[in-house]
Amino acid sequence: MAEVERRQDRSPVPSAFDYAAAPESREIVRLEERYGLFIGGEWVEPRSGEFQPTVSPRDEEPLAEVAYAGAADVDLAVTAAREAFDNGWSDLAPSERAKYLFRIARILQERSREFAVLESLDGGKPIRESRDVDLPLAAAHFFYYAGWADKLEYAFPNRRPRPVGVAGQIIPWNFPLLMLSWKIAPALAAGNTVVLKPAETTPLTALLFCDVLRQAELPSGTVNIVTGDGRAGAELVEHPDVDKIAFTGSTEVGKEIQRSVAGTGKKLTLELGGKAANIIFDDAPLDGAVEGIVNGIYFNQGHVCCAGSRLFVQESIYEQAIAKLKRRMGTLRVGDPLDKNTDVGAINSQQQLERINELVATGEEEGAEIYQPPCRLPEKGWWFPPTVFTNVAQSYRIAQEEIFGPVLSVLTFRTPDEAVEKANNTPYGLSAGVWTEKGSRILSMAQRLRAGVIWANTYNRFDPASPFGGYKESGFGREGGLHGLEPYLEFDE
Ligand code: NDP
Repeated sequence: MAEVERRQDRSPVPSAFDYAAAPESREIVRLEERYGLFIGGEWVEPRSGEFQPTVSPRDEEPLAEVAYAGAADVDLAVTAAREAFDNGWSDLAPSERAKYLFRIARILQERSREFAVLESLDGGKPIRESRDVDLPLAAAHFFYYAGWADKLEYAFPNRRPRPVGVAGQIIPWNFPLLMLSWKIAPALAAGNTVVLKPAETTPLTALLFCDVLRQAELPSGTVNIVTGDGRAGAELVEHPDVDKIAFTGSTEVGKEIQRSVAGTGKKLTLELGGKAANIIFDDAPLDGAVEGIVNGIYFNQGHVCCAGSRLFVQESIYEQAIAKLKRRMGTLRVGDPLDKNTDVGAINSQQQLERINELVATGEEEGAEIYQPPCRLPEKGWWFPPTVFTNVAQSYRIAQEEIFGPVLSVLTFRTPDEAVEKANNTPYGLSAGVWTEKGSRILSMAQRLRAGVIWANTYNRFDPASPFGGYKESGFGREGGLHGLEPYLEFDE
């Protein structure tokens, strides 16, 4: 691997020209020393008696201690959710349910700076992204589903929709608040109650969200947050009084959950990994496409299930495209997530950094050529420079496995048929990107690519009205749009 220098300070690396540091103040965030579990509208001490620190990936600073729920805690949370479901929430006039969702959305907007700073502190993503992407989209999801809450009869005409019951929701660490919103907003709009488990490394925005729930005066027990590790997730999945499981995370854990839920009658949606193809044809506007490649893989340090981690370039423009890409990579600023100039923040955890290192090492061993722009990484914390591999064969692990880091593998193709065949040669099927000037080619590629989401001449665009989800090992079920309501409803047909 290229030599990457370590440096003392955390300011982003100056590239083409110097930027003065523009740090976002963290004063707006008030953290408790210790957080219990949010059950039945109250903070409760965990029956397990266990607490663990959550640290900031930018400097390994402990931020707070967080409860680790055990079986008795999960049971208490599910009981609270069941009571809330039976004693009011499911029978509440849908227009009243909508009012709560609108309130939550507005409070998230009002407190968005506080949430954005906390998200970047706890998870390591650049403040520019938490401020401009995660927070606006999280609020937008609540607004969107608030709008459907009293229109379910029209959304599903002649099908008499009714809520499922208690939803158990398990979310990952890459978009903590946004994934929470993707899960909680449709569940509440459909009249369900919720027990949600955030990821071990990023619990803090979910805990701050409990404050929003109180501010919105959401009836107690409607949403319960149980922090902890995978054991708490497994307890939630196995709890007999949970009616529906929604999971976003690794394919491996998704498969375990599917096995555990099989035969229980619980509804299940899984949003798992990906190894998306971003395909550039020779007629594509190249500068725009290069921006799309960069956004596709270096956004959120590549911790994105739909990241465009395999780049397919048409052979005739290969040299030019790679030269432009490398030049653009040289301008990416890696550093303090709280600096408003930062493009690439910290890697979420030591464990994830090790996984990235391991896969990158296999890329070099198998014969791919690595490029990393000159980059001085901060001394403390977990970092990985933007990386591109060329000379990649389809069989290499870096072309097959989800790296979930800022690492791009480049392959080439000559014809559209070859591009489709190579792009579909993966166990995953979550997303893809197509860059071309021809509308007919976009449509034909979109029909042939086996991916749940296909972007044309753009990448990583999200909208609450647009369904998101995968095929094959990327999971099943959709989140977002009307499709995202269906898993939270039963129908009398
Ligand atoms: P996991 O799938 O382990 O984590 C996702 C969520 O599931 C977390 O809340 C986790 O808790 C919880 N969990 C873990 N084990 C269980 C279980 N047996 N039953 C129920 N819930 C469980 O992902 P990792 O964090 O371990 O990341 C590993 C890899 O997964 C990444 O390198 C990446 O490739 C992929 N990934 C994909 C994501 C996506 O969006 N599709 C998101 C995250 C990861 P806890 O955090 O406490 O372990």
